[in-house]
Amino acid sequence: MTMKMIVVSALCVLGCCYTVVAGGKNLLMLTDADVDAALVTRVSQYCSVELDRVSVNVLPLETSSKMAWPKLAKVLQGQLGKDDLAAVLLTPIFSGSNAVTVASNMQVAVVNLADPRKEGKAQDELYARWIERETMRAYGLVLGVMTCPNPQCAMSDYKVKPESLKDLGRNYCPYCRKILSDKLNAKGVDLPEIKRFNKGT
Ligand SMILES: [Zn+2]
Repeated sequence: MTMKMIVVSALCVLGCCYTVVAGGKNLLMLTDADVDAALVTRVSQYCSVELDRVSVNVLPLETSSKMAWPKLAKVLQGQLGKDDLAAVLLTPIFSGSNAVTVASNMQVAVVNLADPRKEGKAQDELYARWIERETMRAYGLVLGVMTCPNPQCAMSDYKVKPESLKDLGRNYCPYCRKILSDKLNAKGVDLPEIKRFNKGT
């Protein structure tokens, strides 16, 4: 068994772990084979917990993400199942320069693990928190929440370095949470409005 097969197998197992149907709707988290499996587990669990009853299914990307964004967006869209609300790809080899790139009309986004502001390793606590925050922002943007002026909120596009996460939140402020709750309720997903707002650590 090659290393790639092992990683893919591990991700398939993870996918099964997080297949907890809630209103029949899920979030899809796609990853390149090169992405640290422990980081993926951590980020998917964080998003799943923060979004209460919406499950996060982890699957490997069916191909390499080394392609231009419009084409990659179509590949991501092609992996969306009928019950998937959104797909977010975690990849270290995305050609775009933004931390998060979104095609909300296609229900897909990319979190760029190689963003120069995120220098660090998957094992680094602040780096992992940064990825959690960017992934929450990616799902929020895909699901129709706009950029937030509150720098404490995951939906802010505040230009910060990972060490600033000691003082910043990784989930949605009450205002953004309400917007997301309304968006998901309209899709038949019961997301409670109230959620503890995690500021910093
Ligand atoms: Zn907000």
